[in-house]
Amino acid sequence: MEDIENELSDRDRAIYEWQLNVPGLGEQGQVKLRNSTALVSRIGGLGGPLALSLAAAGIGKLILVHGGHLRPDDLNRQILMRHDYLGKNRVDAAAETLRQFNPHIEIETVAENFTEGNAADLVERADIVFDAAPLFEERFLMNRECVLQQKPLIDCAMFNMEGQVIPIVPGETACLACLYPEVPEHWKRRFPVIGAVSALIANIGAMEGIKLIAGLSGVNLNRLIYFDTLAMKLQKVKIVRNPDCKICKKL
Ligand SMILES: [Zn+2]
Repeated sequence: MEDIENELSDRDRAIYEWQLNVPGLGEQGQVKLRNSTALVSRIGGLGGPLALSLAAAGIGKLILVHGGHLRPDDLNRQILMRHDYLGKNRVDAAAETLRQFNPHIEIETVAENFTEGNAADLVERADIVFDAAPLFEERFLMNRECVLQQKPLIDCAMFNMEGQVIPIVPGETACLACLYPEVPEHWKRRFPVIGAVSALIANIGAMEGIKLIAGLSGVNLNRLIYFDTLAMKLQKVKIVRNPDCKICKKL
């Protein structure tokens, strides 16, 4: 019965029983999750917990995109990693942890970061993209490619005790370039981070994506969700499309 596209298998029902009763989700929403492919770019402090929550929710397939090897200073926040993976490919460590956690989802690894050379192909293979990259250049690239291919993008970012999530649906909402026409001044590659903060922001992003995929109401379209973990304060800032945005104005 597992191959039937529009039904859950008995095994699926057994695993996801506790969330099938979530109002608005049900079997239909669960089937949508199972039939979806989500790409997560960078599986560090943000993308790791995000991918874990998508795996827990029963996403059909994860494409994990991340270059580089595991270093000691990754281990305060990158919860898919393990100390015995030091020096090895981070994306392999993430895939192994996720496969042990949920062996019933498909996981594909790409051991490189988003570049001009691979962006179009990577986005084409996904139904939804989760952006957890620290560099603005990568975030802009993902935004541009998702707008071009009209794929939803959940942009997640954090700094110190704060973080933000922007759900982007090309043609319906402002895109990242509407908000940031250029890389903001003073943006730093390296930033202070506690793992619990990045995981919290990651799970806000995961929930926005899960709602979008499963057809639940309440997706924060044209809103920037901002969370300050020091004050434990959440704010939703209305954002608007820039009619002159060089990325999305034609949509
Ligand atoms: Zn735009």
